[in-house]
Amino acid sequence: MKKIAVIPGDGIGTEVTNEAKKAILATNAKKPLDIELVDMEYGAEKFLKTGVTMPEEQYDDFRKNYSAILMGAFGDPRVPGNEHAKDILLGTRFKLDLYVNFRPVKLLDEKFCPLKNKTVNDIDFTVFRENTEGVYVGIGGIFKKGTPDEVAVQEEINTRKGVERIIRYAFEFAKKNNLKKVAMADKSNAMQFGHNLWNRCFFEVAKEFSGIQAKHFYIDALAMMMIRNPEEFEVIVTNNLFGDIITDMGAQLQGGMGLAASGNINPAGVSMFEPVHGSAPDIAGRNIANPVAAILTAEMLLRHLGYLQNADMIERAVRVAIQKNKLTRELGGDLGTKECGDFICSVIKSDN
Ligand code: ATP
Repeated sequence: MKKIAVIPGDGIGTEVTNEAKKAILATNAKKPLDIELVDMEYGAEKFLKTGVTMPEEQYDDFRKNYSAILMGAFGDPRVPGNEHAKDILLGTRFKLDLYVNFRPVKLLDEKFCPLKNKTVNDIDFTVFRENTEGVYVGIGGIFKKGTPDEVAVQEEINTRKGVERIIRYAFEFAKKNNLKKVAMADKSNAMQFGHNLWNRCFFEVAKEFSGIQAKHFYIDALAMMMIRNPEEFEVIVTNNLFGDIITDMGAQLQGGMGLAASGNINPAGVSMFEPVHGSAPDIAGRNIANPVAAILTAEMLLRHLGYLQNADMIERAVRVAIQKNKLTRELGGDLGTKECGDFICSVIKSDN
């Protein structure tokens, strides 16, 4: 029996994770899964009551006893600095060494695309964002704070090991999925040390993958191409900061935050899956959040664990919901969070 930790978190995280769980259980009724979903209450409420974000021993428990983690979202107006959210999300990424941030950008219906004349065939690529280094390590400091002479230094960390493993993962993904192009984006013209490492490493690893075209872009040029010719891309690999920005662009290309799913993967250990969107306090508790991103996140999790048929059932059901406009308001439907989840589950249950 594989154990999956389910941590809904805060705000709409709790609402959408509930629908994701329902979708997993609906597929289980059709094709039994040998998994156990274990609910965990980490988030703002627990932090406010106990001061605990995510205890050290929980990470050990994940490493030893769990196959995957399904998260909702973190962030609550009662914790103005959102320190619990940073601790839980960055803590999980760093401590479980989830070095692959895996974000598919796939347009499921033309009506969701903000670009003119682009079809579902034009927007279908995967971004691999380095998830454990870059500017996110928090190395730096402020000197003479609050004075006119203030100096702020923020370091970007790029290690050979860290850069090489994410680049290799991107090529291996391309090979496994019979894709022919891997693009890498850096800013090596301006950042001549760290991004020179990316550049050299990319072409060195590319030599091991004959038959796959390796193409280098400066990040500004890649951003432009993502809008002008998204059909050019199959796989993109980039650093933590650039990945953060272009995956939000990618989310918009596929129809917005309500549809974007992501995986945080340690290929040799436990991985974590979460929708790209945050806890959205502005719409929390009103049954209006779109649950599709969380449901597609559950699909990714099942696919990652090898439950391909169950994952396919979820994907088919989401497509039916889109086709029949059984969606929440921000995508043009008239259903609530729960009702949209119920519809998707009913399609899963009648799947042949
Ligand atoms: P963060 O600061 O972690 O990014 P956030 O919730 O403030 O979190 P986003 O996730 O970027 O920000 O979302 C921005 C806005 O988009 C939300 O405030 C909300 O109005 C809308 N939104 C996000 N996710 C959804 C969703 N699943 N369904 C409907 N609207 C959403």
